[in-house]
Amino acid sequence: MAINTREEALSPGIKGWCPGAWQPMQTGDGLLVRVRPPMGELSRAQVLALCEAADTFGNGLIELTSRANIQLRGVTDASWPALMSFLVENGLVDANPGAERLPPIMLAPGWQIGDDTHTGARLLQARRNALAIMPGKVGIAIDAGDAPVLSDAAADFRIERSESGGLMVRAEGYQRGTPVDSIEAAVEHLIRLTHWFVESGGSQAGRMRRHQVALPPWAPASVRPAQPAASRALGKQACGMVYGLPFGRAPATAWRKAVTPASVTHLRVTPWRRLVVKQALTEGTALPAVEGLISDSSDSRLLIDACPGAPYCAQASVATQPLAERLSGLVETSLHVSGCAKGCARQQAAAVCLVGHAGKFNLIVNGRADSTPVQTGLSDAEVIAYLENLGAL
Ligand code: SF4
Repeated sequence: MAINTREEALSPGIKGWCPGAWQPMQTGDGLLVRVRPPMGELSRAQVLALCEAADTFGNGLIELTSRANIQLRGVTDASWPALMSFLVENGLVDANPGAERLPPIMLAPGWQIGDDTHTGARLLQARRNALAIMPGKVGIAIDAGDAPVLSDAAADFRIERSESGGLMVRAEGYQRGTPVDSIEAAVEHLIRLTHWFVESGGSQAGRMRRHQVALPPWAPASVRPAQPAASRALGKQACGMVYGLPFGRAPATAWRKAVTPASVTHLRVTPWRRLVVKQALTEGTALPAVEGLISDSSDSRLLIDACPGAPYCAQASVATQPLAERLSGLVETSLHVSGCAKGCARQQAAAVCLVGHAGKFNLIVNGRADSTPVQTGLSDAEVIAYLENLGAL
């Protein structure tokens, strides 16, 4: 498939959507191309193709976002058409640019073929044109395993398991959801909720949690979700070999090494910046540690969320990754290093949040990137000194 220019590929209606592959975003180091792996899964061949794409058309790094999307950076206007042809040929991007207008669907990464999460995702995919047209940031989570695992991942509408073991649909901002009898009913209920969201003015609010309108009578928020599952341990787990990505990114060489063993069949992405590498045979065949990826659950880099910052993001006035690296041996608490108040790397509060502003850092305690700082205008050295004095490290 030959793609010549971005203008040729995009219809005017796509303008204003979230960045994707067909609508890349101009950032500090070129175009950012976002890939949404279908069902959150890539075959071994697709991972290798992605690595080739990052090395050939990008800056050689592959990122994983807090919504389980994959990002390539450093793409140029000149290289983008060839990159898109390559991604489409390898099944990494839908040939139809319109597919990107659908809300992102995040799946609990431990899904099995035929279970409710997998079935729900397939049903929703088949009914995708029935979903309401919503703002680009609205997302869906299908998290129908025994216990929710995506509770703190950003989503606006969720299919989950309730305390009693049944299925439920929950709107973000509500502690409880509506019970449903089957996964088919859950999908239909979710579709109906998206239409209620738009018709009741949710598009102006932008996200479900900001939509201050009571749910309709046919969607009573009456049941609680089951207790969330806690474990995000690295290393060999029942679901596969789990690797962490330092601050959400790693060189293509590391991704390639992770899938090099012949027993590897595919890889799943998670919203907590971990990769799950699946093997054909897991008994007695533990995969090795990979340079550039985290294999040890006690690695303190796992406590830190850091966005790309300068020079990678045009919104950033500070470099975030070097400070995150410097702090990584010191922290024992959750830390968010953000290039600006948008806070892309972490939606929830962190014990300490450092936010770039006019070339310096503002420091927030127990808050989000858009919370009120307790200190402003700190250099890297001043941040470290302040945190040491505070005993926050
Ligand atoms: S938080 Fe700001 S600086 Fe960081 S990636 Fe998002 S927009 Fe860019």
